[in-house]
Amino acid sequence: MDLAQTARTEALRAEARAWLRDHVPARPLPSLETEEGFAAHREWEALLHTGRWSAVSWPEEYGGRGADLFGWLAFEEEYWAAGAPGRVSQNGVSLLAPTLLAHGTAEQRARVLPPMAGGEVVWAQAWSEPEAGSDLAALRSRAVRTEGGWLLSGQKTWSSRAAFADRAFGIFRTDPGAARPHQGLTYLMFGLRDPGVTVRPIGRLDGKPAFAEIFLDEVFVPDEDVIGEPGQGWRIAMSATGDERGLTLRSPGRFLAAADRLAELWRQAGDPADTAIRDRVADAVIGARAYRLFTAASASRFAAGAALGPESSLNKVFWSTYDIALHETALDLLDPDAEAADGEWAQGYVFALAGPVYAGTNEIQRDIIAERLLGLPKGRR
Ligand SMILES: Cc1cc2nc3c(=O)[nH]c(=O)nc-3n(C[C@H](O)[C@H](O)[C@H](O)COP(=O)(O)OP(=O)(O)OC[C@H]3O[C@@H](n4cnc5c(N)ncnc54)[C@H](O)[C@@H]3O)c2cc1C
Repeated sequence: MDLAQTARTEALRAEARAWLRDHVPARPLPSLETEEGFAAHREWEALLHTGRWSAVSWPEEYGGRGADLFGWLAFEEEYWAAGAPGRVSQNGVSLLAPTLLAHGTAEQRARVLPPMAGGEVVWAQAWSEPEAGSDLAALRSRAVRTEGGWLLSGQKTWSSRAAFADRAFGIFRTDPGAARPHQGLTYLMFGLRDPGVTVRPIGRLDGKPAFAEIFLDEVFVPDEDVIGEPGQGWRIAMSATGDERGLTLRSPGRFLAAADRLAELWRQAGDPADTAIRDRVADAVIGARAYRLFTAASASRFAAGAALGPESSLNKVFWSTYDIALHETALDLLDPDAEAADGEWAQGYVFALAGPVYAGTNEIQRDIIAERLLGLPKGRR
C-alpha cells in the first residue's frame, strides 16, 4: 500500500467534507429534469467550481485537482453522504471530458473544458437513435463534408436532459460506403440551439420534461468540433463507455449514502418483528459495502496499468439491479401509498427502473459477461 497516496486521498476527503458542510444547500433543489431545477443545478455546478470540486480528477489547468481514481472515489463518498445535489453536468464531466483528454486537441480541451467545469455549458449525449440503441453501430444520422466542416442530418433519441442542455456530442456516419457498420463514423460536437436543430421532449413515467429527442437538418459543425480523426468515431466513443458503465456513472458513494438513509428509515419506520424486511435492509447495506470494495479493487488494477475491460459489465448489472431492490425495500417500509406520492424514495424508484436500460442494457451486459469473462459460447442473436 502506498501510504503517501493514502494520505493525499484522506487530505482531499477532509477538505471536501469541510467545503460540502459549508456549501450544500439546506433544502433539496427542484428536480434537475425540470427547467427550474435544471437552472438551479447549473448554479450549483458554478458554486462547486469555485471550490474546484466540479471535476476533481481533471488536470488543474482546466479547473480540476488532478486527483486520481481513489481521490475521486473519496470525494464521491463525501459528496453523496453530504446530501449534495445530483450532477447536471455529468454527461460532460464523466463522458465527454475523458474523451477530450484522451483524444481531443489542446485547443479543444482549452475551449471546452473550463466552461463545462463551471456549468456555463451543459452537455447532452446524443448517441442513441430510434433503431440504434443496443446495436449502436446501426446508426444512420450522417455528417456530409462541406466547406470548413460538416453538415449533420438525422435523428437522435433518448437524450438525457437535452431539452435544457446547451451542446451535445455524438457519432455520425461520414462514409456510408464503409465495409463494416463500425467503420466510417465520426465523433462530433454540436450546439443544441444551432440552426437546423429541433429538440423535442419525450414523455417520461414521472412527467418531467428534460429527456428529449433531437432532429438535425443540415446542421453546420466546423472542423474544430470533430474529435479525433474523421472515420475513427467508433474507436473514440468506445474508449469512454467502459468507464461510464463500470466506474464513473454510478460511484459506490451514491449507494453507501442511500443504504445509510434506508437503514435510518428502518430505524424510524421498521417493525422489529418483521425480520424479512430487516434482512432486506441489511442486504442493501452489505451490497453497498461490497460494491465499494469491488470498485476499490478495480481502481487498484486501473492504477497498476490494467484496462477495466468486460468487468465493467459486472458493475453495471450489479448497481442497476441493486438500486431497484434498495428503493423497493424503502417503499415497502413506507405507507402503501408512498409509491404514488412524489417523495424522494418514489422518485428514486422510478429513476432506478431505467437503470437496467441506460448505459447499455443488462441483457447486453450479461452477454458480454457470458462470452468475454466466462468464455461461454455466443448466444443466439
Ligand atoms: C433513462 C434513460 C436515459 C438515457 N440517456 C441517454 C442519453 O443521454 N444519450 C443516449 O444516447 N442514449 C440514452 N439512453 C438510451 C439507452 O442507451 C438505450 O435505451 C439503450 O442502449 C437500449 O437501446 P434501445 O432503447 O434502442 O432498446 P433496444 O436496443 O431496441 O433493446 C430492446 C430490448 O431488446 C434487448 N436486446 C437488444 N439487442 C439484443 C441482443 N443482441 N441480445 C439480447 N438482447 C437484446 C435489449 O436488451 C432490450 O431489453 C437513455 C435511456 C434511458 C432509459
